[in-house]
Amino acid sequence: MEDISVNTKVLRVDPQNIDIDIIREAAEAIRRGGTVAFPTETVYGLGADTYNPEAVKKVFIAKRRPMDNPLIVHIHSMEQLYEIAVKVPPEAERLARRFWPGPMTLLLWKAERVPPEVTAGRPTVAVRMPAHPVALALIRESGVPIAAPSANLAGRPSPTTGEHVVRDLFGRVDVILDAGETVYGVESTIVDLTRDPPVLLRPGGLPVEEVERELGKRVEVPPFARGLGQADVALAPGMKYRHYAPLKRLVIVEGDYGDLRAYASKVIDVVRREAAKGVRPVVLCSSETAPYYEAQGIRYVELGPRGNIFIVARNLFKTFRLIDELPDVDAAFMEGFEERGLGLAVMNRARKASGFSIIRV
Ligand code: AMP
Ligand code: MG
Repeated sequence: MEDISVNTKVLRVDPQNIDIDIIREAAEAIRRGGTVAFPTETVYGLGADTYNPEAVKKVFIAKRRPMDNPLIVHIHSMEQLYEIAVKVPPEAERLARRFWPGPMTLLLWKAERVPPEVTAGRPTVAVRMPAHPVALALIRESGVPIAAPSANLAGRPSPTTGEHVVRDLFGRVDVILDAGETVYGVESTIVDLTRDPPVLLRPGGLPVEEVERELGKRVEVPPFARGLGQADVALAPGMKYRHYAPLKRLVIVEGDYGDLRAYASKVIDVVRREAAKGVRPVVLCSSETAPYYEAQGIRYVELGPRGNIFIVARNLFKTFRLIDELPDVDAAFMEGFEERGLGLAVMNRARKASGFSIIRV
């Protein structure tokens, strides 16, 4: 694969008090056909001018992303939606009114002017309006919709801080806008509205239950959206690649979360068996079960409370990155979570990051 060396400018911006000159500098890079990493409320994105195929190609090269994995077009107004999508159904307008700006991406029929590089040659386009003041200002000042996947090297955990982006993409992109930590920590929920019933292509920051409530109908949740098995490539091209993965071994230990004491003791059995083989393990666990590992002298990292899965989602990717940095650890054993609300996004990312290394206890 083609490699590159780019002069990267890192610009810090306070999301509470945005310096418009900094945004304009980044927007200028977009307009000139450059690449800009920017914060959104979900994870950091790596963007380029949607209408400039050469600029869009740079995004793929910077990330080492396979060219057949399409990007999401980020917009700041409903006018831009009608610029890039055609045959927009009333359901899209309804969801947009309710959840935009926010962590929801809609799959729609693409307009002629969206180049095939953005959609990997598909007739559909993924579009969302992000709820982050820096992202919205950048799109507005650029004057074009911004095509962007997550701002990580392909296969790595998605970046939730500017530092993560610097680590993956310094020397590979033109500008990195660093505005601190993102809010959700998992990517957007992708809903395919070119089908009826709509299909969930990826669970994310907006629970699919909320989409169903707003539409007043069922959204189909295929097994690949739960992170089980490989995707139907025709449906979700991006799903066929290994994703989100730490370099060290990651195993997901799933079970019955009704009796947490019993569940934790089964996880402890798994970890003890591994330790007997010479593996140095760490457990990624909930706040509720952490005391059981503590009591047994087993090393653990807390992801957050089961009672507030939002925190678990927020900590997930940075914990995957942390595993690689922990000394004297060979493998991580992550507890499973119930697939409700944000729990579905957490389990989708966890199962994929493990390379489908799942133990049921
Ligand atoms: P990322 O935000 O890095 O995960 O990248 C964007 C995701 O959007 C990819 O994983 C794709 O699977 C998905 N996506 C974008 N455009 C399309 C499309 N036209 N059809 C299906 N999935 C898409
Ligand atoms: Mg990604």
